[in-house]
Amino acid sequence: VQPSELQECLDCGVCCFSRLDTYVPVTGGDRARLGAQAEALTVFTGNRCYMRMDGDHCAALQCTDEGQWACGAYAQRPAVCRELVRGGAACAAEREQKGERPPQLLALQARLPSG
Ligand code: SF4
Ligand code: SF4
Repeated sequence: VQPSELQECLDCGVCCFSRLDTYVPVTGGDRARLGAQAEALTVFTGNRCYMRMDGDHCAALQCTDEGQWACGAYAQRPAVCRELVRGGAACAAEREQKGERPPQLLALQARLPSG
């Protein structure tokens, strides 16, 4: 599959979804890069740091009014996120394993009363 054939990441967001609290490891360097956002977006389990999870996705993941998925810390995102290249094998595996989750969450949110 060529990257051009894939959904843009904004229309996907799959690799930011997980039900594991230890899904996105955050190194000391990652945490420094997150700067002021680190306190809100990361948690420690023992002496290991991870991105905080919100429901079944990373807490940094934001859904726009247009129903697109964007990383709220994109420029400061951890190394493990930078290494997952759109169109690569890991991206394909993510979409294969969890592709239904973002649309499921959008559908759920659409049914909830706003406010
Ligand atoms: S890297 Fe792949 S799985 Fe992650 S948001 Fe982009 S297209 Fe989706
Ligand atoms: S930091 Fe950003 S790119 Fe990484 S999992 Fe969280 S929302 Fe996705």
